[in-house]
Amino acid sequence: MSKSLQAIRGMNDILPEQTPLWRYFEGTVARLLDNYGYKQIRMPIVEFTELFKRSIGEVTDIVEKEMYTFEDRNGDSLTLRPEGTAACVRAVLEHGITGGGQVQKLWYIGPMFRHERPQKGRYRQFHQIGLEVFNLDGPDIDAELIIMTWRLWGELGIRDAVKLELNSLGTSESRGRYREALVEYLSAHHDKLDEDSQRRLKSNPLRVLDTKNADTQAVLVDAPKMADYLDDESRAHFEGLKARLDAVGIPYVLNPKLVRGLDYYSKTVFEWVTDKLGAQGTVCAGGRYDGLVEQMGGKPTTGVGFAMGIERLVLMLETLEQIPEEISRQVDVYLCAFGEEAELAGLALAERVRDQLPNLRLQVNAGAGSFKSQFKKADKSGALYALILGDDEMAQQVVGFKPLRGQGEQQSIAWDALAAHLATCVVQG
Ligand code: ATP
Ligand code: MG
Repeated sequence: MSKSLQAIRGMNDILPEQTPLWRYFEGTVARLLDNYGYKQIRMPIVEFTELFKRSIGEVTDIVEKEMYTFEDRNGDSLTLRPEGTAACVRAVLEHGITGGGQVQKLWYIGPMFRHERPQKGRYRQFHQIGLEVFNLDGPDIDAELIIMTWRLWGELGIRDAVKLELNSLGTSESRGRYREALVEYLSAHHDKLDEDSQRRLKSNPLRVLDTKNADTQAVLVDAPKMADYLDDESRAHFEGLKARLDAVGIPYVLNPKLVRGLDYYSKTVFEWVTDKLGAQGTVCAGGRYDGLVEQMGGKPTTGVGFAMGIERLVLMLETLEQIPEEISRQVDVYLCAFGEEAELAGLALAERVRDQLPNLRLQVNAGAGSFKSQFKKADKSGALYALILGDDEMAQQVVGFKPLRGQGEQQSIAWDALAAHLATCVVQG
């Protein structure tokens, strides 16, 4: 196929055989978020480039090298969103829905775009479910976010395979004091740092903590620790969070090197990580960003949120074989009709049944065909039952009802009794 007719590298089709698992995952999360009182918000996929520069920070990987930025026909610089928080903050400010201390508990779902090196679990178009809470500043809401994800892992059957890492970055003042101490220490070891870290030491020193380079990691062993620089308020907040996680029985590990890639975090940061996906081990990440709204031109408004990567979580369900059996069956009943008269009667009958059983997954054979070929299609559809309309059935105004998965013999059901009969034997989702 010519190159222009292929999808862009790192941007994937999600094929029909994969969508049931995606919908199961997305549906499970959506139901959970509803139940905890979160409301969905939908933002555009494209925003002014300036929005991301101002919120994410000029010297982050995302803004420096990962954004899909282009000029539109008006000459405006636009960017495909690399994450959801910036647009969500823009939206709540633009519509004034966090004004006067109004609490908002919001979630969103959709594609994000980053020009990274594609590999397993890392793509250029990927999908996130994200969540942001505004105007609640206590550790109770930080805890709720984590408790909710813990429940999600439980429902999905992957709880044993993920681990919660936790850190506090303090307020911007205490983080500033820590940054100074870190810069002083790292500058004294400048020659032993890798090139990237030397650069970050100037632009965004906390990101050095995040390095994958072994030599730099060795230098970091004796580096100053954020925990020693935490202000009293952040310390109390962090203790409050840990106490709540302990109360619910959620295990965590403290990771002083967890700084997150984005500039805007303060106090709580956390990541859910797994060792089941190779290098791309973070499936959900977030934290508190109390200064962001103000930084973006709003009144002081606290915020906390997270985002999870749908591709990585779907991969985990596949890897751990946590795929509920019922999601792969998409047809309950398959109707086969032989001859023109039966086909017309079958269509009308199917609509009557659908009137009475709106959740029934009833597929009517299309494309006619012999008894054998229609039967083959019925079986292949995954249906539990085939309905058969031939000359004999037409004459008697019945339909042949044939279990396809070995639950008994074929029987005849009167047309008028069909819906009631199906209601007793098909569990409707
Ligand atoms: P990483 O360290 O893996 O690059 P990140 O810190 O850049 O992740 P966030 O911006 O916090 O990621 O996004 C939240 C989640 O979105 C990640 O934990 C991950 O599950 C998912 N994610 C981020 N980037 C990608 C990507 N390029 N492809 C697939 N999923 C991604
Ligand atoms: Mg990244």
